Order: sequence, then structure tokens, then C-alpha cells
Amino acid sequence: MSALAGRRAFVTGANTGIGQAVAVDLAAAGAEVLCAGRSAMDETLAAIAAAGGQGHAVPADLGTMAEARAAFEGAEAAHGPVDVLVNNAGIIRRADAVDMTEADWDAVLDVNLKAAFFLAQSFARSRLRAGGEGAVVNVASLLSFQGGIRVAGYTASKSGLAGLTRVLANEWAPHGITVNAVAPGYVETNNTAALRDDPERREAILARIPMGRWARPADIAGAVTFLAGPGARYVTGVTLPVDGGWLAR
Ligand code: NAP
Repeated sequence: MSALAGRRAFVTGANTGIGQAVAVDLAAAGAEVLCAGRSAMDETLAAIAAAGGQGHAVPADLGTMAEARAAFEGAEAAHGPVDVLVNNAGIIRRADAVDMTEADWDAVLDVNLKAAFFLAQSFARSRLRAGGEGAVVNVASLLSFQGGIRVAGYTASKSGLAGLTRVLANEWAPHGITVNAVAPGYVETNNTAALRDDPERREAILARIPMGRWARPADIAGAVTFLAGPGARYVTGVTLPVDGGWLAR
């Protein structure tokens, strides 16, 4: 039987990139996937259908906490309880630290960290009411471990997300809710378009990746599906690098 048959997953930022690959992979593993985000989900829903899975769009701008919560609660009311939450939506704003604006700092922290927490809170409240197990998988970053450069808000948000993963894992383990994160290496998505468009940065990054290639979104999705599934029921509080060996270097 498929590992996630009978499970329902809520994936943020599912319209493109890593979130799209995660949504399709979870659906292929048998989960019904609620695809949350602020853009059209048509492409993702078509890919899910092509994989023989089931998915639904959930419109949500996660920059506003009231909207994020309402989207989650509305999706549960419409489709039923969620067993797996994947906090994938995220943004990056690049600027020298001395020039970073408060508006950019707030935008990054709101989507990458604050929405992840309040969605996890809504998810756990619902799980506790239902008395059922659950899994949260956060999409962190190598900048949960490293400093990076010209991305102060992003590094703060992703380092915070690794800490959040641990504290929620501690609090919710007794209730059967696991909380883990994946830390993708360099993945070919919109998020890294600026890096890939800069030939020097692109080659410098490639030269440091032991596996000799950038990641594809599907590389990350496999690890998320593992952490969401039955094979990882005794795994909690970890931030798992999925980086082609970058951190081992
Ligand atoms: P991406 O293609 O830019 O995807 C980001 C996703 O987040 C999109 O679906 C985007 O929706 C969504 N999003 C952003 N702000 C939102 C908001 N206010 N409300 C709802 N959705 C919002 O980049 P990606 O690489 O797949 O990023 C996915 C996650 O992986 C992010 O958390 C990112 O930090 C993390 N990550 C990526 C890399 C990498 O190398 N690519 C490495 C480490 C970590 P729209 O399309 O509508 O903007």
C-alpha cells in the first residue's frame, strides 16, 4: 500500500519549485494534498492528477497571519483534518546588512518564520482536538547552519526555523506529532534565479558541491515525504541537510 494512503497534507507555496515537487511527491505516495499559496495551482494540480493523485487549491497569502490561519482552518472545514503540514513557502531579499530595510526584514520574517509557527500552531491545535498523530516538515536552508552573505533577514528566519523545529518537537512529541525540517542545498528554482544568472557565483557554488550538480526540486521532495511518512515516526526535532554533500565538505 502507498505510504501515505488515507493521509491529508497541507503544503504551502505549492504552485512552483520545491513546494510543487513536494505536493506531487506526497500525492504520489497516496496523500490527498491541499495546495496552499497566493498564485494559481493549476500546474501543480495537473501534475498531481497525472501522478494519479488527489489535490485541491487553497488560496492564501501567508504574509498575513489572520489569512494564513483562516486558510488552514477553512481547508480543514472543506476537506477534513490535516495529518501532515509542510511549511515550504519562503522568500529571500538580498541587500548588504547596512542597507537592509525594515520592510524587507519584516516581509521575510513574516512568511519564512511567523507564518510557519502560526500554521503549525493551528495544525497542532486541530491534531490535539482529534487526538491523532501528525507530522510537520519545515523547509529550512543551509543558512540554518551557515551565515550566508547579503541575506541577514533570510538567515535569521531560517536559523530561527531550525530552533522552532526543535522546540515544537519537544512540546508535541508526547502527543505523537513529529516536527522536522529539511535544509535544501542549492536548488534550481525561482529562489536561486539571481545566483544562477551570475556565471561566477553559479560556478563557485557548483565547484563546492561534492555531488557535482545543483539540486532539482524532486531531490528535496523525497526527503520531505520520508519525514512525513511512517518510516520516520521515531524521528523528531532534526533539520536534515539535503545538499549533495555541501555541509560535509
Ligand atoms: P520559489 O520557487 O521562489 O518558491 C517559493 C514559494 O513560496 C512560492 O510558491 C511562493 O509563491 C511562495 N510564497 C512566497 N511568499 C508567499 C506568501 N506571502 N504567501 C503564500 N506563498 C508565498 O523557491 P523555492 O526554492 O521553491 O523555495 C521553497 C522553499 O525552499 C523556501 O522556503 C526557500 O527559502 C527554501 N529553500 C530554497 C533553496 C533553493 O536553493 N531554491 C534552498 C534552501 C531553502 P509565489 O510563486 O506566488 O510567489
